[in-house]
Amino acid sequence: MRSIFVGLVLFSGIAAAQDYDLVIRGGRIVDGTGRAAYAGDVALRDGKIAAVGVVAGKGRDEIAAGGRVVAPGFIDVHTHADDIADLPVAENFLRMGVTTLIAGNCGSSTTDVGFWFSNLQRVGVAVNMATLIGQGSVRAQVMGGSFMRPATDDERAKMRALVDRGMAEGAVGLSTGLIYLPGTFTPTAELVELAKVVAGHGGIYASHMRYENARITEALDEVLTVARGAGIRAQVSHIKLSSPAAWGRAAEIAAYLAKARADGIDIAQDQYAYTASSTNISALVDEKVREGGTAAFVKRMADPAVKAATVEEMKTSLRNGRRPDYAYAVIANFRPNSKLNGKTVPEAARLVRGSDTLDDQIALVLDLVAQGGAQAVFHGMDEDDLRAFMVLPLTMIASDSGVRKFAEGVPHPRGYGNNARVLGRYVRELKLLTLEEAVRKMTKLPAETFRLGERGELRAGFAGDVVIFDPQTVGDPANFAEPHAYAAGFSEVVVNGVPVIRDGQLTTARPGRPVKLGGK
Ligand SMILES: [Zn+2]
Repeated sequence: MRSIFVGLVLFSGIAAAQDYDLVIRGGRIVDGTGRAAYAGDVALRDGKIAAVGVVAGKGRDEIAAGGRVVAPGFIDVHTHADDIADLPVAENFLRMGVTTLIAGNCGSSTTDVGFWFSNLQRVGVAVNMATLIGQGSVRAQVMGGSFMRPATDDERAKMRALVDRGMAEGAVGLSTGLIYLPGTFTPTAELVELAKVVAGHGGIYASHMRYENARITEALDEVLTVARGAGIRAQVSHIKLSSPAAWGRAAEIAAYLAKARADGIDIAQDQYAYTASSTNISALVDEKVREGGTAAFVKRMADPAVKAATVEEMKTSLRNGRRPDYAYAVIANFRPNSKLNGKTVPEAARLVRGSDTLDDQIALVLDLVAQGGAQAVFHGMDEDDLRAFMVLPLTMIASDSGVRKFAEGVPHPRGYGNNARVLGRYVRELKLLTLEEAVRKMTKLPAETFRLGERGELRAGFAGDVVIFDPQTVGDPANFAEPHAYAAGFSEVVVNGVPVIRDGQLTTARPGRPVKLGGK
């Protein structure tokens, strides 16, 4: 009897020693489904989650969670991290718990998805990467320098072929940036045609819509036209109501989306947790005079009649938005003169032109665009609308950020703080969302919506992407004045079973993988 007993103990001891690569013990498990948190352990093996709950076996490595939250790594479906190969650690994302990013948003992406993925693998990145294929980039490549027209039959065939190849190489869908060049000149029918190709692969149509202001329902109508016409699932990118003229309509827009779903359209949305947006300051200037690039713009501005019409159009646009001037616009990164970084347009106009009248503000903006443009932050949204969108069950939390180079420029703080801000401000402080619901919006909901396969949930067999954070201290010290500050509260970040942040310190590991449609 005694020898059998010893044998069993030995057997279980040997088995235990080999059980898991990593065990996280004593966590408050928030598993990504929205289910109530519970006390438990998470075990990982071979890059995947092997067990969740009470884990008896031993890990080669163990982490004591000490009651902190253990959750799936966050999935950010709306990023501009297309250049991640240049900054492969993506520390701004890692430190707010993001382990999987979708690039290629707002119509702008690589047009060679296969090469993009293989390059990531060659370089080695710390996070998992998926991409959309950008309709603007495809249009630019096929149509060359002239976009202010519908594409020809031949060009449309070439665009379809490019999109088809991108999808075959693993893109998760098609994105648009319909306020940007060259996307803005795209007829809806052209979008439907490309979306059909994407639908054939099971991908999604993610749209930075034509309008996010008082004309938002026209823009949503166009999204539905594409969704219906192509039989494709749709995503409203960074849902918002921009300009005072549009504020207060979140309930109406929520009802619009609910009706679309009731009518059989599969549509959802993502959002960043700030009332300011960020894009190039050239967005303030009519696309028709910017078409063809900076030199073409400068040439057109030399014509007094064109310039006067452009100035008039800018004034009309301000009036339509019920704005007195450009005080809501802050220059974030203007390479030719970094003294302007962090200044509002009126402040910059005073500095450069000695006056901040509206005409001087407009002259300054046109001057910046003539010098290649500048990254800018626009304080254009209302907090009540933001909260109304955030509580919608199909709203995902997404940053709209690229990989940040620490201390460069004065960018939007969302690139450092977005997820942490939701968990700190909107969950802990304002109690707008439960912790479980917020985590679901960052994990399982995006994984399912974008069909990323077995990610976004703490469940055996799923990818070993896990974060540990302290719900009492999680937060976003980055703000508009000083945006370069990493999120607080994340002590451990594990990607495909490998810790990339351990005890709050970066490791040297870069275990990120390409994530293709369906999780392949
Ligand atoms: Zn966008």
